[in-house]
Amino acid sequence: MAEKCCSVKSVQSQVKIKKIIDISLPLSEGMVVYPNNPRISIETRKGQTSTLSKIDFGSHTGTHVDAPKHVFDNGKGVDKIELEKLIGECRVLDMTKVKESVKIADFKKANIKKEERILVKTKNSQRGFTKFYKDYVYLDGEAAEFLAKKGISLFGIDYLSVKKRGGADLRPHTSLLKKGIVIFEGLDLSKMKPGKYFFIGLPLRFVGLDGSPARAVLLK
Ligand SMILES: [Zn+2]
Repeated sequence: MAEKCCSVKSVQSQVKIKKIIDISLPLSEGMVVYPNNPRISIETRKGQTSTLSKIDFGSHTGTHVDAPKHVFDNGKGVDKIELEKLIGECRVLDMTKVKESVKIADFKKANIKKEERILVKTKNSQRGFTKFYKDYVYLDGEAAEFLAKKGISLFGIDYLSVKKRGGADLRPHTSLLKKGIVIFEGLDLSKMKPGKYFFIGLPLRFVGLDGSPARAVLLK
């Protein structure tokens, strides 16, 4: 039997889906969160006929979107991010050899184009997401400006922040968000080979909020 199950029509193309790969982190109590972010807590109440839970979590928990509001007081909230940016073709770039931060030179061969969705797979994905480590690979400030000038529509990285831990260079957030480039953080790209995919990543529709957890998948 062919594995084809269905098709998704986009403006530019029609993708025959062979595989759907979940690149979001599982959400549960005790999961790793960025230092000083609220921990996730879940309180489940069993009623006579149904069960419901109260969930407490930070807006930047697990796989999540940073809205412009995250760094700009008057910036857009997560509910105002255009759905067109959150759904469409993307490229996973192999950055697993990168030591400290992804720099302009690392993007040189990739021939980045306007409106592309770019996800970088670094050694973070191999290290996993069960323990926090502060020397994660991040996006260099100059490289963020480079991507902003290229006018990409989305940038995703495989750790809980796009910026160096405690770093003074704020451009990984500001350069991208100023241009309306969507930032995805906390993507698990460990199973992904570099290449082209169809991306779907949808944050919850929190009104005016600085960020939100999202379910992100890649279609092949
Ligand atoms: Zn964030």
